[in-house]
Amino acid sequence: MSIEILRESCIGCGKCTTVCPGTLIRLTADGKAHIKYPERCWGCTSCIKECPCEAICFYLGGDLNGLGGKLTVRREKQLLHWTVKKTDGKLETITVDGRDSNKY
Ligand code: SF4
Ligand code: SF4
Repeated sequence: MSIEILRESCIGCGKCTTVCPGTLIRLTADGKAHIKYPERCWGCTSCIKECPCEAICFYLGGDLNGLGGKLTVRREKQLLHWTVKKTDGKLETITVDGRDSNKY
């Protein structure tokens, strides 16, 4: 599991640096987020959900989507739009209402 930070999209807000439980992400001198050891990421997705501009994507394993697929999240108030970009370029979006997170 690992993430990719899209530096051209990062606005340097620092939110990802504060939510990562492993303190894996830092801001570099140019104010962009950077993950030095992506292999240490365990895929909790916290940083992806906090990023306000979809500058972090998550690599999906072969069991979920095939190697190379990527997942991003766009937040819209309580709604989280999870979009998978498949290796063939197709997009698939699932929307989750955050208010339903703890319903079982
Ligand atoms: S997915 Fe979780 S563990 Fe990985 S970099 Fe983001 S916050 Fe850290
Ligand atoms: S949360 Fe997103 S925009 Fe903010 S520093 Fe991290 S990658 Fe950049």
